[in-house]
Amino acid sequence: MKTQERLKIAVQKSGRLYQSSMDFLTSRGLAFSPDSRSLIRTCQNSNIDIVYLRDDDIPEYVSRGIADFGIVGQNVLAEKGLTLRIVTRLGFALCRLVIAVPRCSRIRTVEDLQNLRIATSYPKLLTDYLGKSNIKASIVVVSGSAEIAPRLGLADAVCDLVQTGATLEANDLVPLCTVLGSQAVLVGSPVRKRSKKRLLLDLNIKSLI
Ligand code: ATP
Ligand code: ZN
Repeated sequence: MKTQERLKIAVQKSGRLYQSSMDFLTSRGLAFSPDSRSLIRTCQNSNIDIVYLRDDDIPEYVSRGIADFGIVGQNVLAEKGLTLRIVTRLGFALCRLVIAVPRCSRIRTVEDLQNLRIATSYPKLLTDYLGKSNIKASIVVVSGSAEIAPRLGLADAVCDLVQTGATLEANDLVPLCTVLGSQAVLVGSPVRKRSKKRLLLDLNIKSLI
């Protein structure tokens, strides 16, 4: 009998997606040994390995077929610009990418952003959004903590993720508009279609496509 191929699922190593991703896989019947802090974790009752990565790297690994599936936020997927098949939306890590401005600023509409500076870790999504709105602004790329930029004088506005709005509020920022709505999704690589289909059936995951 031919031994079944092992499949790899890429999951965020630590951070906001980690626990919900593991809970999702466990809820579908997969069993794992206790957390060993290893970067690869073997599933005890299926031919599956979990590979733990930074969330930003997950789309690349999946699009090259190194991982067969990945769990990642739509925000990261869209920013990377890789067209991967979304197998199913997972309903957690719900958030929005918004443009927000200091409460006391005179910026009231998207048009007011003309020629201003916007700090973000999402330059592609922001560029696309501003282009559609015919706004020319200077995009200041930061790798995190964009919300601090206006107070420090680095930017006039930010384009950042919000969930409850508490971080914006703590930094005296108010949302101006939504660039993208996001949640965690299960994405599939373009290769090994047969083995992957078997896994989806085993886990009772209904594919969107
Ligand atoms: P990594 O170390 O893997 O690069 P990270 O710091 O980029 O992690 P996290 O802060 O753990 O990422 O967020 C992971 C994902 O959780 C985000 O890309 C987004 O999809 C989702 N998310 C939900 N709510 C928020 C929020 N309020 N702020 C940031 N991300 C959020
Ligand atoms: Zn990240």
